[in-house]
Amino acid sequence: MIRSRGDAPEIAILGGGIGGLAAAAFLHRAGVPATVYEQAPALSEVGAGLVVAPNAARLLRRLGVLDGLVRDAVRLEVGWEFRRWSDGTVLSAEDLSDRCEQLFGEHTYTAHRAHLLDAIRSAVPAEAIQLGSRCVELALDGSRPRLRFEDGRVVEADIVIGADGIHSVVRGAITEPRPAAFAGIIAFRALVPADRAPEFSQRPAQTLWIGPGHHLVHYPVSAGRFVNLVAFAPAAEQSTESWSATATVEEFLAEFEGWDPRLVDLIRAAGTPGRWGLFDRAPLERWSAFTPSGAVTLLGDAAHPMFPFFAQGAAQSIEDAAVLAQSIADSPHDLAAALRRYEELRIPRTARLQEISHGRAHINHLPDGPEQEERDRAFMEADPLLANGWIYEYDPETAEVATSP
Ligand SMILES: Cc1cc2nc3c(=O)[nH]c(=O)nc-3n(C[C@H](O)[C@H](O)[C@H](O)COP(=O)(O)OP(=O)(O)OC[C@H]3O[C@@H](n4cnc5c(N)ncnc54)[C@H](O)[C@@H]3O)c2cc1C
Repeated sequence: MIRSRGDAPEIAILGGGIGGLAAAAFLHRAGVPATVYEQAPALSEVGAGLVVAPNAARLLRRLGVLDGLVRDAVRLEVGWEFRRWSDGTVLSAEDLSDRCEQLFGEHTYTAHRAHLLDAIRSAVPAEAIQLGSRCVELALDGSRPRLRFEDGRVVEADIVIGADGIHSVVRGAITEPRPAAFAGIIAFRALVPADRAPEFSQRPAQTLWIGPGHHLVHYPVSAGRFVNLVAFAPAAEQSTESWSATATVEEFLAEFEGWDPRLVDLIRAAGTPGRWGLFDRAPLERWSAFTPSGAVTLLGDAAHPMFPFFAQGAAQSIEDAAVLAQSIADSPHDLAAALRRYEELRIPRTARLQEISHGRAHINHLPDGPEQEERDRAFMEADPLLANGWIYEYDPETAEVATSP
């Protein structure tokens, strides 16, 4: 059994992204202090849009930050509106107007990632965030885990939470270090100012145009000031996974040649689109490791990176944060029990989402033919909001560990 020294364990969170800040916020709410170490010199505006589904909205409300976020977000009326690539025929759509709140207690929103990050940060004491702290090594050979930073600082803690993203340093100390594999898919990303975006793209709807080998998603963000545009295409050559790599509009247009002509106006308005490689990792069987008097564990993309095809990566990192904080607060003197509960609650759900998000690439990108016709029939027959209910209704504070039949 692992015991911490004082009343509350000393906690170091590596990474100040959505997951790391959410962990600090939920720990703070539970009365457990934690320090976030983030490599960036400032938590500045990077990235693009995100869907904030009811399971994430519920937790943001619990942190007291949802109302602030909603002022800068868009409340969706239609979600997962799948359209046929060639002519825009609607194949399936979630009616989010009132039904979403009736079923799940919260609406669905779209937001700029920076607004989401700001909202979560507002629930973390400023002195708990150490910027400009790039970790270069995690050592597990002492009594407690030890982080070494680029500037020479060394920090020891009872628990190190690795919220350091898909290329996590912490993950490499828990499981065999292996680089994430390029998935053969790139994403073109752009935020199109509303005054340049075609009217159809400004509806409060999350729209997906699906077709052979490709799909294109758009929805308004930032209280309607921008349209978030992201489109997926195959690519043989490895690409960076970075918010700063770019493509040209011509490259973007070439990938969607022959698609519904309405999309040309939207793509042309993209300016210089970002170019983002999708990377892949299989689910892990365990997320934690122990030293004689301490522990390390993983959270968010460091634990379970997933293709963005169910729009759940950030939401899952927020759920992880809520469960981990609760587990530590419930068993502050028995970290092994706390982390066991955390893994039992979180690994099955996130592994399932990793797997179905992965499988969605095949489904979304079917060439026209019998399999595509079968898919479209299934779309038309299903009630998509109910089909995704298991994702949206999840509440970490009442979740039970799944038992085998
Ligand atoms: C195209 C696309 C669309 C998406 N759409 C959605 C969506 O609609 N809804 C949704 O919920 N999710 C979506 N996601 C997923 C979501 O963006 C991620 O799952 C989420 O950002 C993961 O958060 P994280 O905190 O775990 O990791 P990250 O956001 O990667 O944060 C990791 C942090 O750790 C820091 N860090 C890394 N290494 C170190 C180090 N050595 N030392 C110190 N700091 C370090 C980084 O600077 C960063 O701040 C999408 C992703 C993509 C690519």
